[in-house]
Amino acid sequence: MRVSSIIDISLVDVPGIPVTVLFTAGCNLDCPYCQNAEIIPLDSGEEITIDLLVEQLRGNLTDGYCITGGEPTIQKDLPELLRELRLEKSKHINLNTQGTVPDILKKSIPFLDSVWFDMKTIPECYREVTRVKNNPWPRVERSIKLILDSEVSFWPRTTYVGGLTKPSDILKISEILKDFGFEGSYVIQNYIKSSGTREEDVKGFAEPLLDEAKSILGKIPEGIKIQFEWR
Ligand code: SF4
Repeated sequence: MRVSSIIDISLVDVPGIPVTVLFTAGCNLDCPYCQNAEIIPLDSGEEITIDLLVEQLRGNLTDGYCITGGEPTIQKDLPELLRELRLEKSKHINLNTQGTVPDILKKSIPFLDSVWFDMKTIPECYREVTRVKNNPWPRVERSIKLILDSEVSFWPRTTYVGGLTKPSDILKISEILKDFGFEGSYVIQNYIKSSGTREEDVKGFAEPLLDEAKSILGKIPEGIKIQFEWR
């Protein structure tokens, strides 16, 4: 597996649970606002065996794991890692994904407790926003269904980017989630320009206004609770 870094303990990645965070390296999308742009290249990070990785992750006194990236599901041995981590039955295992590799996600689901699911945009704009040749939406759709049909907690989340995201996008995504049969919290977090973004790619973007994002609140379908996380 290609690994970028490990954070021994985080109190913010999984609500209420101190976790060890693993950043896998490499991503199959190219979102212009990516906060971890240096680990998008598929040859970034370093190759580590599952045995060695498990050894490094297990030493921490946390109550679980958050596997993020990059995009963890492009790592073919992700299910193997999760199977090993699952042996510690009491620990929570959370995966962050944008859902474009449903085959690996499907093999990972038996070992997971929760998934932060990155809803990039509305289906019509997926290819354009993620800057890839083939429209990822059909695979994303399949991944959402796989999680909702399982026992794993589905936690949808969108990064609201000023100059890219529109309030109507949040409304449309909420309606799509409702149509999938989802009920619960949908987190909207604000885009922040950081040292991890690429200067030339974020020129047209701005840190968004909370009032703009909130303008659709009255129209959100029943059962979907928008939770703003403005940092
Ligand atoms: S999916 Fe995530 S890691 Fe990949 S390019 Fe987009 S924001 Fe970056």
